[in-house]
Amino acid sequence: MARLNSHYLKLKAGYLFPEIGRRVKVFTDANPEAAKRLIRCGIGDVTEPLPAAVREAMHKAIDEMGTREGFHGYGPEQGYEFLRQAIAENDYRTKGLEVADDEVFVSDGSKCDCGNILDIFGHDNRIAVMDPVYPVYVDTNVMAGHTSEADEAGRYGGLVYLPCTAENGFVPEIPSEKVDLVYLCYPNNPTGATATRAQLAAWVDYALANDSVILFDAAYEAYIRDADVPHSIYEIPGARKCAIEFRSFSKNGGFTGTRCAFTIVPKELECSASDGSKKPLHPLWNRRFSTKFNGVSYPVQRGAEAIYSPEGRKQVGDLVNFYMENARILREAVLSAGLAVYGGVDAPYIWVKGPDGVPSWTLFDFLLREANIVTTPGSGFGAAGEGYFRISAFNSRERAEEAARRLASLDFGKAA
Ligand SMILES: *Cc1c(COP(=O)(O)O)cnc(C)c1O
Repeated sequence: MARLNSHYLKLKAGYLFPEIGRRVKVFTDANPEAAKRLIRCGIGDVTEPLPAAVREAMHKAIDEMGTREGFHGYGPEQGYEFLRQAIAENDYRTKGLEVADDEVFVSDGSKCDCGNILDIFGHDNRIAVMDPVYPVYVDTNVMAGHTSEADEAGRYGGLVYLPCTAENGFVPEIPSEKVDLVYLCYPNNPTGATATRAQLAAWVDYALANDSVILFDAAYEAYIRDADVPHSIYEIPGARKCAIEFRSFSKNGGFTGTRCAFTIVPKELECSASDGSKKPLHPLWNRRFSTKFNGVSYPVQRGAEAIYSPEGRKQVGDLVNFYMENARILREAVLSAGLAVYGGVDAPYIWVKGPDGVPSWTLFDFLLREANIVTTPGSGFGAAGEGYFRISAFNSRERAEEAARRLASLDFGKAA
């Protein structure tokens, strides 16, 4: 009989979002009136329409596709030169960062890239993840056979978990042991935290000293307001020798349903081959793209290019500002309810600590029952998220304001 990949059987059955859905359904079935007032602040998906500059570029590209001269069949797997150049130029070179056009790989999403990147690494690396964590990093390592079973708290054997707590500002301490791959995500999902230049520099130094690779997820880069917070890992000297960066148009241009992202693999980045020699990763990722991917559609790449036009930039800036105003409104509301609040300043997520000793799921149920607000329980992102809940700023203004009114008047002392 054909055998399946039994590593998949180790996965904790996609527990978090189905469990949220289940609890919401039980509550709304029993309380049809409250169901009408329900506000979802749990989702990590954008809500506002695509910017006009993007739509116009996509319409134009589709019209081109309807002509013999303008038709585009298979494009370059790595992305059209017009987009790779726009990305390298606008996101990096104009900011003084060295990134060549052919170090940019355009894809259909950062989620896919974060998972697919494991294809070009060996199976015997020691892997570190932040806790709480974006679940994709963990689950793709489980699928690839890099872990043993999960324990009660949901921690998989074989992974190094780096606790991110209020004490360390949700930026993990440099481990005392040696790890080969480390996933860092800043601005962070779920905590909304950012990492300072000095903190990222400490990680780059560690990676250079230990021949490790940093997998840097900068999906929320556009939300950074603080002028001192780095937007790219390549702002740190030496990072081109030890870091891969993932970025996406999902959260800046509202491309969650349109699908376009990119990954930077610098040519200086080398890893050791089985014979002990050092070899660059760039040709491997290039080869993976050519073999397993056929490129993002032409109209979508034209839409992504439009994000860098003067109108596109302005519209994306407005979109990000819109969500950040929601974040401010929600953040103030939770503060006035007397809770400790993190994030929501340089990121669209607000990370809230409940009263001492109250578990995340108890807070979730309390918010659902008393305020008819759906949040995301912190423990769903990892053991270190216990006692916290996440509020997303991706919502209409009306809903964010109404959620804020309800949050501000809650007595969280009753949650216990
Ligand atoms: C939303 C998000 C992404 C982007 O994913 P896409 O597949 O590009 O939509 C990447 N990383 C994190 C942590 C995210 O929250």
